[in-house]
Amino acid sequence: MHITRYDNEKYSCQCNTPITDDYETLMDSDWVCPICGEKVLIEINIPDTQNFTVIRKRADEIVSGDLVFYYVDYQIHQVYNAERDNRKKNNTYICLKEFGGVSFPNEEYLECFL
Ligand SMILES: [Zn+2]
Repeated sequence: MHITRYDNEKYSCQCNTPITDDYETLMDSDWVCPICGEKVLIEINIPDTQNFTVIRKRADEIVSGDLVFYYVDYQIHQVYNAERDNRKKNNTYICLKEFGGVSFPNEEYLECFL
């Protein structure tokens, strides 16, 4: 499974609970705050662009209208369709505007804007 991790990720939550820096723990907890249950906010720093804040959603949590920062082309794409992939078991087929359709394993995390 592809796991994206950017340099200098900073984690926080809107409820102000201190969030661990431990990536494995965050993976295990589905990128959700242990206190309020909301998605952990992730500040990422991409060279030559400004910092921005995303959440990590599993591919099978993605819905139409989500904005995804895609690790392949480092661009932000709007999702215009997301559905179960009929050809690949346990995958979600996600259509990204200005990129095209991509089949992701359901448990893969994608960086999304709130
Ligand atoms: Zn919280």
